[in-house]
Amino acid sequence: MQQIRFNGEYRTPGKIVCVGRNYVEHILELGNEVPDEPVLFIKPNSAIADEIVLRAEACRFEAEITLLMHHGVCAGVGLGLDLTLIEVQKQLIAKGLPWEKCKGFNGSAVFSPFVPVDSVEGLRLELWVNGKLQQSGGVALMIYPPEQLLPEIARYFALQDDDLVMTGTPQGVAQLRPGDRLEGKILDPNGNVLIGQSWVVQ
Ligand code: ZN
Repeated sequence: MQQIRFNGEYRTPGKIVCVGRNYVEHILELGNEVPDEPVLFIKPNSAIADEIVLRAEACRFEAEITLLMHHGVCAGVGLGLDLTLIEVQKQLIAKGLPWEKCKGFNGSAVFSPFVPVDSVEGLRLELWVNGKLQQSGGVALMIYPPEQLLPEIARYFALQDDDLVMTGTPQGVAQLRPGDRLEGKILDPNGNVLIGQSWVVQ
């Protein structure tokens, strides 16, 4: 089983529950409709990775504030990259087929280490690509912030200890190129960096 690090320990998430459209500007940049309930999908444990390794197919990154669950509440946060195979997704959507091949493939959920938090209120993320600020957003801009999102998820998918919740991506998603340097941060409401993690695309 794949693992993530939380506060210096290894944890084994059983699943990753993801929100497809949770920031208005990102919905508009992909030409989608604002949903009247959260769009949810799941990545399997086998999707978890700590490095970005490209496949033959074109791949897009989506930086997301990711919650680590414990006893039904968020115990920690990390920065997640929801990787998506762009052309595969187009074909699946055109045919009305499930998303797993484009969103749940091996290595499609890349995570920083996780740190404990008392509250997710006001958390923000930044993603810098090759030294340029590419994505920025946070809980204040979410259509479904965690206090609304977690009960909605739990109606369908029980959130078990060490499960992860990827809370959606702000605008600025783009295709990955070999050698791209990504630097992700999670900031608290005072602007303090809770997590800083960098990756070089392989
Ligand atoms: Zn996503």
